[in-house]
Amino acid sequence: MTDFVNEPTTGEEITYCAVHPDRETGLRCNKCGRYMCAQCAVQTPVGYRCRECVRQHDDKFFNATQNDYILLFAVSAGLTGLVAVVMSAIRLPLLFIILLGLPIGGAISEAVVRAVKKRRGRQSGIIAASGAVIGGLVGAGLQTYLTLQGRISEAAAARGIENVPAIPLDAVFNSLLSNWSLLILIAIVAFAVYSRFKMRI
Ligand SMILES: [Zn+2]
Ligand SMILES: [Zn+2]
Repeated sequence: MTDFVNEPTTGEEITYCAVHPDRETGLRCNKCGRYMCAQCAVQTPVGYRCRECVRQHDDKFFNATQNDYILLFAVSAGLTGLVAVVMSAIRLPLLFIILLGLPIGGAISEAVVRAVKKRRGRQSGIIAASGAVIGGLVGAGLQTYLTLQGRISEAAAARGIENVPAIPLDAVFNSLLSNWSLLILIAIVAFAVYSRFKMRI
């Protein structure tokens, strides 16, 4: 494959993509020098490279361990869950949620990145974002459940009913899904942690 790299070019030589031999191309990877078609070329800050060179570069860059993924998920889920509990208890208006969402998302992202000592892997962003979504929904669901159960217990006590009925889970679910501002907050936090891991610094 490297044989032809140093061959003198006649100017009319036809070259083909190293991966797709049927595609004519004059474009070469600026690292390994192989010819590549438009589909195989990846634009990087240092020019066009082939997928293999990009992958090798990423492998050096990604250094997260399995434990990092678990830690990422746990920290992201725990903090977002905590925020969701507080926010669903105080029920701020949507505008405040949006204004607060980015700084909260930023703070959680920083905490998550520090927890894994800035190590990251190919899946870090998506795992941290899933942690935020799951933690946020569980936290908010728990808060909603306790609030509804508390109201029912009070109502039961006021009427002298001893057997407090349990809250049907779909009532908790509906109440949670109707809390738009909280769902938006969770989405903002999930987006923030995801983007934080996409940043290459
Ligand atoms: Zn290459
Ligand atoms: Zn190709």
